Formats: sequence, structure tokens, C-alpha cells
Amino acid sequence: MALADLQPVARNDAGSAAVVGILKQRFGERFQTGQAIRGQHAHSTTYIPSQLPDGVVFPHSTEEVQEIVRVCGEHRVPVIPFGTGTSLEGHVNAPGGGICIDMMQMNKVLAVHAEDLDCTIEPGVTREELNTYLRDTGLFFPIDPGANASLGGMASTRASGTNAVRYGTMRENVLSLTAVMADGRAITTAKRARKSSAGYDLTRLLVGSEGTLGVITGLTLKLYGIPQAISGGVCPFPSVDAACNAVITTIQMGVPVARIELVNALCMRALNGYAKLDYPETPCLFLEFHGTDAGVREQAETFGEIAAEFGGGSFQWTNVAEERTKLWKARHDAYWAGLSLKPGATSCLRMFACRSRDLPNASTRPRKT
Ligand SMILES: Cc1cc2nc3c(=O)[nH]c(=O)nc-3n(C[C@H](O)[C@H](O)[C@H](O)COP(=O)(O)OP(=O)(O)OC[C@H]3O[C@@H](n4cnc5c(N)ncnc54)[C@H](O)[C@@H]3O)c2cc1C
Repeated sequence: MALADLQPVARNDAGSAAVVGILKQRFGERFQTGQAIRGQHAHSTTYIPSQLPDGVVFPHSTEEVQEIVRVCGEHRVPVIPFGTGTSLEGHVNAPGGGICIDMMQMNKVLAVHAEDLDCTIEPGVTREELNTYLRDTGLFFPIDPGANASLGGMASTRASGTNAVRYGTMRENVLSLTAVMADGRAITTAKRARKSSAGYDLTRLLVGSEGTLGVITGLTLKLYGIPQAISGGVCPFPSVDAACNAVITTIQMGVPVARIELVNALCMRALNGYAKLDYPETPCLFLEFHGTDAGVREQAETFGEIAAEFGGGSFQWTNVAEERTKLWKARHDAYWAGLSLKPGATSCLRMFACRSRDLPNASTRPRKT
């Protein structure tokens, strides 16, 4: 969206003033109207200028969210759910004012069903908090957008990340949601069962709805066993085309890669400068394989052979956790590294999807437009 496309939205000042009065009385310290806190809640990772809500409220339960939504509904005042504010396109801006519902104090892991590979959580739990909580269970939640976002926010933006090639996105990993609708009713979209063909698929309607259809107050998520062995590495290529063709062949050959990400030469330069690394400054693929010791070795060797066919440099891979963490931290920092190329600049992200065969052309296009 261009800045010129931003349309003014009518405010309901009388309604807002009434709601502010009611929420102040009901929530006390958990309802804030200071300029600074309202500013923080309209300031996300975006080039779009902040538009402040009239107040920020911190609920502790589904019932409290229902109360807030009902009061706002009666006075025709907008509500804006808020997770960690990392979204990239001005999602949490309040162009018509209204009440920001900050979900971060609803941050409990309610249940982990290790034998069923799922867990039920409140929406303010972040992806890193969930994985820290799960550490001793041998399970993990794989969806990893660069930011340590709330899982409610990730469901709302249908987040993906570097693991999407093997584990999918939030769309495939949310089994059920509890959400408060615009009229204040709370619904739970499904049970924990993995297969259900009964009724509309409301879970997938709400996932990706960016806070416009309901406020998510609970989620049941799929979990996965931490693989016995993980190996990963970086492979340089002479061109973006060559790297893309290696990706296509790898997928076509059925190598079950867990992560595969293309980083172009400019971005590699940015990463090296930002994170003090010394990767080759040519197009590179970042990869990770999950499985047994023998399985990951075989996958890495097969990929190395495919890379060589397309002129790729030697594929150095490692099983050492610290080295892999360093590698993926660098990839996750790509956004900030990009900004560091031009101090003072903000970023405007472009996303695109294409067929595998169009990948080589498509992946060079964003630089030209
Ligand atoms: C450095 C960086 C790298 C990223 N990389 C990726 C990536 O690789 N892949 C990817 O898919 N995304 C990526 N993202 C985007 C990321 O997925 C989103 O920023 C994140 O999912 C938003 O979560 P949040 O908790 O910060 O939500 P917020 O930013 O607070 O909110 C986002 C939207 O969700 C709504 N919302 C929040 N909580 C709730 C709730 N409980 N109920 C209903 N609606 C709610 C808000 O109203 C808003 O519309 C990246 C972001 C950053 C900053």
C-alpha cells in the first residue's frame, strides 16, 4: 500500500469518551490512556505513520475480552487486538481511534498433551516462550517468523517462517481457536481432533483474519518431536538462477528439507556487515535437514551433489547447535540488516508467490520494480 492510499477514517469522539470512562472504572491500572503507551501500541515495524488508539486495555481472560468488546460495540467504537506489535504493514494502527486490546497478559500455557502432540495456550504466549516451556518434553513448535511474536498475532497474520517448507504455516498448525466475536459472544472453532469434517472450517477463516473477525483468546496448536539429528549450512551459487534451479531439483527429488531460504548477494553483504559474519557475498541458499543421523547426512550429501551440478560452491554443513543457531539468527536478522544498508531509511516489504518453474525469474523481479 502506498502512503497516498491511506484514507481518513471518521472518528466517533463521543463514543470513545464514553468507552474510556467505562473502561477506566472497570479495569483501573489495566486501562491506560497516556500518550506514550498509546504511541507504543500504534508503532509497529512499518513505514506507515502511527495512528494512535484512544486507550489500551490489558485483559486477563476471555470473559474480560467479551466485556471490552461489548462496551465498544454498544458505543460503536473500534477495537484493535494487539500481540507484540511486530507486524509489518501497519496492522495495529487505529485510523478511527478506538480501544487497543493488548493480549500480552494472557500468556499462560494451559495444557501440553505430549502423547497427542498438541498444546493449548493463551494468545499472548510468544513462539520463543512456548519453545522454552516445551524444552524438557522433547517437543517443539516450528513456525518461526523472524520476530518473537505472540502466537495470537501469528495466527492472525497467518505467519510462516523458515520452517514452512516442511512444517507449513500457522494455517496448517492451528487445530482450534477460541475467539470473541464482534457482538461479544465467544466461540471455539473445533475440538482437538486432527480430523473433522463437521461444519464450516471456522479455524481457517479466523487464521489470517488480522484481527478483523474476532479477538483470539485461546489456541490449540500442533507440536512436533524434536528430530534426533539436525544439520544445516550455507551454500553459495554463481547466480540467483542457479540457486533456484538447485532448489527445484532438490524438491523434485523428494529430499525432505526442513528449511531452504534464498538470500541474494546484496542481502548477504548486509548480513555480513550487520552480524559481523564472513559468508560469501554471492547468492546463497541457507538449508536445514531434520531426521536421524544417517538421514540428515544422506540429505546433506544429496543436496551437495545437486548444488555442484548447478555450479554451487562447496556445501559446508554442521550438526553443531550453536553454529546452526548463528546461521539462522543471521537469516532472521535479514530485515534489520537490510535497513542497516541505508541508515535512516524505512522499509516497504513486497511478498510474491509463484510456480516453481517461474522461481528464477520471479526472484530477481523485486530488485527491478
Ligand atoms: C524481522 C521480522 C521478520 C519477519 N519474518 C516473517 C516471516 O519470515 N514470515 C512471516 O510470515 N512473517 C514474518 N514477519 C511478520 C510476523 O509474522 C508478524 O509480525 C507477526 O506474526 C505478528 O505477531 P504480533 O504478535 O507482533 O502481532 P501484532 O503485530 O501485534 O498484530 C498483528 C495483527 O494481528 C492482530 N492480532 C494480534 N493479536 C491478536 C489476537 N489475539 N486476536 C486477534 N487478532 C490479533 C492485530 O490486530 C494485527 O492486525 C516478520 C516480522 C518481523 C518484524
